[in-house]
Amino acid sequence: MHRSSRATLDATTLRTRLFIGGQWVDGDDGAEIEVLDPHDGTTITRIAEARATDVDRAVDAAERAFPAWAGTPAAERGRILLRVADLIESNAAELARLESTDTGHPLRDSTRLDVPRTAATFRYFGGMADKHEGSVIPSERGFLNYLAHEPIGVVGQIVPWNFPLMFTSWKLGPALAAGNTVVMKPSELTPLSTLRVAELLQEAGLPDGVVNIVPGYGTTAGWAIVTHPRIRKVSFTGSTAVGRRVVEGSAGNLKRLQLELGGKGANIVFEDADLEQAVNGSAFAIFHNQGQACIAGTRLLLHERIADRFLDDFLSVATNIRLGDPLDMATEMGPLTSSIHRDRVLAYVEVARGEGAEILCGGDGASDPDLAAGYYIRPTVVRARPGDRVSREEVFGPFVVVTTFTDEDEALEIANSTEYGLGNGLWTRDLSRAHRVASRLQSGMVWVNAYKRVSPASPFGGVRGSGYGREMGFEVMHEYTQPKSVWVNVGADLPVWFARPEREKAADG
Ligand code: NAD
Repeated sequence: MHRSSRATLDATTLRTRLFIGGQWVDGDDGAEIEVLDPHDGTTITRIAEARATDVDRAVDAAERAFPAWAGTPAAERGRILLRVADLIESNAAELARLESTDTGHPLRDSTRLDVPRTAATFRYFGGMADKHEGSVIPSERGFLNYLAHEPIGVVGQIVPWNFPLMFTSWKLGPALAAGNTVVMKPSELTPLSTLRVAELLQEAGLPDGVVNIVPGYGTTAGWAIVTHPRIRKVSFTGSTAVGRRVVEGSAGNLKRLQLELGGKGANIVFEDADLEQAVNGSAFAIFHNQGQACIAGTRLLLHERIADRFLDDFLSVATNIRLGDPLDMATEMGPLTSSIHRDRVLAYVEVARGEGAEILCGGDGASDPDLAAGYYIRPTVVRARPGDRVSREEVFGPFVVVTTFTDEDEALEIANSTEYGLGNGLWTRDLSRAHRVASRLQSGMVWVNAYKRVSPASPFGGVRGSGYGREMGFEVMHEYTQPKSVWVNVGADLPVWFARPEREKAADG
C-alpha cells in the first residue's frame, strides 16, 4: 500500500493491488501504473498492473466461484447487494473524496451525484435479484413450457474513466443479481474507487472470486478479457473505435457483447421553450463533469428566433462557472481527467478554428495560476456548421457546438446526422411536438424539458454507432442472463411418427 501524495486520502483504505479470488495480489510481472491527480499532475499512488496472465488467474477464480454463486438463493444475492449499498452510504464522504481526487470531479458532484447514485443502483439491483421472474408460455396443450433466465457464467466488464465509481454499480449490480461472476477492468487512469468498492463487497459478505478487479491497460488486460475463451460475455463501455475492436476480438468463442459507446447528443431548443429552464438544463447537459459524459448535450440546436436571447444568457452562465480544485466544495468544474485527454479536447479547438468556426467563449486552459499544473479547460462554446468535424465527432469535454435551425424538420435532420444515437433532448411547451420529435429522434434515450436524467430503473443505452444492449432496469437483466425454454409433457398425446416393427410390439406385450 502506498501513501497518497495529497494529505486528503485515507491511506488505510487506499487499495493498490489486484483483487483476485478475494486476495490483494501483485501482477505476475510485478508491473505498476502511476495514478495521477488531475488537479496538479502529482502522483497519488502506484497500483499493480494486470496483464494477460493475471486476467487468466482472475478468470480461474471467477470460474471456481460461479457454481456456488449461481446456486445461491436470489434473495441472498440481493441481500449482499443491499448491504453494499448501505456500505457505500456509510463510507460516502471518503468515497466522494477518493473519486474526486482520482478523476477531478468536483467534490460537490461526487457528493451529490456519484456516491448517492452508486448506492441507489446497488440497492435497486439488490431488490431486483429475486424479482427477475421467468414465465410460463402457452405454447401447446398438454405441455408446461416455462422460460428460466439463467446466469451466463464468467462475464468480463471493461469501463472507462469518466464515472468509475458509478460504473461499479451499473455493471456489477445486475451481473451479480443475475448470478454471474465477474472479471472487471477499470480504466488504467482511474482505478481507485473501483478497488475500494471491491473491499466493500467483501465486507458485505460477497464470497471470494465472485468479483475480481484487474486494473490494466486496454491493449493488454482489456484485450485479454475481450479474447478470453472462458469469458462468456463482455460488457464494454468506452469509445466507438475501441467498441469495434471489441466486436472483432470477441469472435473466437462467440461471446455475447453489450456495447455502451460514444455519443454526440443534440439538445434542441424550440422557439416556445421556457428559456430560463432550457439555459439551466443545457449548461448542466454539457458542463457537468467537464463534459466528460457519453450523454452530454454536445450540440446545441437553437431555433433562429430565440438563438440570440438564449445565447446571451447561456454564455453568461458558461463564463461564470467556477473552475477550481475539485476538493473545494465551492468548485463547479474541475480539471479533465488526464493530460492526454485535455490535449485532445484543445486540439478540437484548433480543428474548429481551422474550419472557420467562431469561438464564443473559452477554448483554452484556466487563467488562475493556481490551476496551471492541472488539466483544466474553460467552458467552451463554439458556433459551427452541422457538417463540421466538431459537430460530428465526439469531443468529450466542456465543449459545445451551437447551430441554428428554422423548423422542426431541419432540427431533426441535423440531430440525426451523426453516426451516434445515444441520448438527445428537446425543450418545448408544445406537447404534441414533444412526442412527435421524441419519436423521430434516432437515439436510445430522449429527454423532454430536461437533459441527462438517469435512473437505475430506466434502460440506458444507444443505437447505431453508440452501440447496443442496455444498462439498468429490467432490460439489463436480459443482458446478464440466457433464456432456457423447458418443455414438460403434462398429458399431451405424443404422435406416433414412425411405425414400430411388429417384433418389438410383441416383446412389449
Ligand atoms: P476507451 O474506449 O479508450 O477505453 C474504455 C475502456 O476500454 C478502458 O478501460 C480502456 O483501458 C479499455 N480499452 C482500450 N482499448 C482496448 C482494447 N483494445 N481492448 C479492450 N479494452 C480496451 O474510452 P475512454 O477514453 O476510456 O472513455 C471515453 C469514451 O467512453 C467516450 O467515447 C464515451 O462516450 C464513452 N462512454 C460511453 C458510455 C455509454 O454508456 N454509452 C458511458 C461513458 C463513456
